[in-house]
Amino acid sequence: MIRRLGASISFDDVAAGARFLGGARAFLRRPFSLEQARATLRSRLERREASFLALVDRAVYRHAASPYRQLLGLAGCESGDLERLVYQEGIEGALHSLYRRGVYLTVDEYKARRPVVRGSATLTVRPEGLRNPSSASHVAVRTSGSRGAGTRVGIDLAFVRDHAVNTHLTLEAHGGTDWLHAHWGVPGGTAIVNLLEFAMGGTPPVRWFSQLDTAASGVHPRYRWSSRVVRWTSFVTGVPLPSPVYVPLQEPLPIARWMADVVQTGNTTHLWTYASSAVQVCRAALAAGIDLGGARFTAGGEPLTAARLALIRRSGAQVAPRYGATETDIIGYACLAPEAPDDQHLLHDRLALIQPRPDPERTGLPPLALLVTSTLATAPVILLNVSLGDQAVLVQRTCGCPLERLGWATHLHTIRSFEKLTAGGMTFLDTDVIRVLEEVLPARFGGGPTDYQLLEEEAGDGQPRLRLLVHPAIGPLAAEAVAEAFLAAIGDRSEGERVMALHWREGGFLQVERGAPLTTSSGKILHLHQPRPIMRYQS
Ligand SMILES: [Zn+2]
Repeated sequence: MIRRLGASISFDDVAAGARFLGGARAFLRRPFSLEQARATLRSRLERREASFLALVDRAVYRHAASPYRQLLGLAGCESGDLERLVYQEGIEGALHSLYRRGVYLTVDEYKARRPVVRGSATLTVRPEGLRNPSSASHVAVRTSGSRGAGTRVGIDLAFVRDHAVNTHLTLEAHGGTDWLHAHWGVPGGTAIVNLLEFAMGGTPPVRWFSQLDTAASGVHPRYRWSSRVVRWTSFVTGVPLPSPVYVPLQEPLPIARWMADVVQTGNTTHLWTYASSAVQVCRAALAAGIDLGGARFTAGGEPLTAARLALIRRSGAQVAPRYGATETDIIGYACLAPEAPDDQHLLHDRLALIQPRPDPERTGLPPLALLVTSTLATAPVILLNVSLGDQAVLVQRTCGCPLERLGWATHLHTIRSFEKLTAGGMTFLDTDVIRVLEEVLPARFGGGPTDYQLLEEEAGDGQPRLRLLVHPAIGPLAAEAVAEAFLAAIGDRSEGERVMALHWREGGFLQVERGAPLTTSSGKILHLHQPRPIMRYQS
């Protein structure tokens, strides 16, 4: 008999909850030590090629639904061929060779928004073909830039433990073994994973701040559910875990005060959040005359630019950039001797990255696109040369910092999306933005394509600003109504997007202004215009 626990909580959620608690109990009762984490890292680096080949063998060659199996077949690369290739050229060399032979997925192909066409063959990617057949699903995490169904990724707690190893080693390198951790974000799977990540290394977070008021109407019960899951986890494991405290994006002063108070007691406080959220806390501290000297931030989810970095430092706090994706979790973490605001070490013990560079295959990918490949057995989703829509500068250099001594010698920096719009830690796809600007708004307020344009810029205070330009020729209209229509339309596809739209509304990231759309130096009118140097790839 299915017992309904709430409007939209299904039996599946309850069953997943039971599996989750069983797994959490096993992992949290025996947190790993830093010595064990270092041993795990050494072993991963030593066995990296064997681990990659075993994963491909099990999750691709022996997994009939895998799209990579078809791509490898089309490229004439059987299991033995791949093994020879990896032992001759290393994983990255082999991946370059596979890429040239058509074994890769663009982000549109990966998300099944476009069929995969290689030569005369056409195939469609299905989520079940990408899933790691030997990975369990304990907690569902929504991928950024979610668009309708198929964007929830089931995360195995063994995978959380695997990336917790990297998180704790990188924090140790930054001197963070005794920091008091806190999380500020939107409640849900991502927050749960972050709280557990800290707890698995023996340092559970002491505060959990929520950017959404889960008691507000219109919020899916799943977001309230996540706080219950954490409470039960704490009860079952005996590990103290915090309950969420609502701190809106526009009023982050309680977090600034808390961080300063902790510093006063002689401790170091560390807030794990989005880059622009870190900026919000620091702005509030500066305005209130609160010194954040001694406070630390880890900032991910969106670019850490020079302006954001400068503002955070002005408050006295220090910030470490982090890069990751739902499918991979942590990919890079801050270098202690950076040569760019977001300079990070690539954590290649868990994945491989290559870039198309010169692209004789004309795949349409920008030369600096990151093609991601899973190498660890617990990866929830199998990636084999998959573009997640980001690009970066990838370099080998000697920085002399402790992360390099751990074996991570490759750096990545100036990480930017080339197809998504990111603000306030939330991501929308260009294709959605284009639909709203070209179809939804003209249908309601008049005008046509190029009459509406989104300007993404960073104000002097490091905050993201989105200006929605509406051509004066359209005639009088209420700015508030246009903003509401934009946010409603951008959030009409899925629950995840509705939450994102709510987040944007609360963050006040969107301002409507009248003006003619801006053009680029080559005369293009882009849907999303960035007056600053454009990292976004334009074909
Ligand atoms: Zn370094």
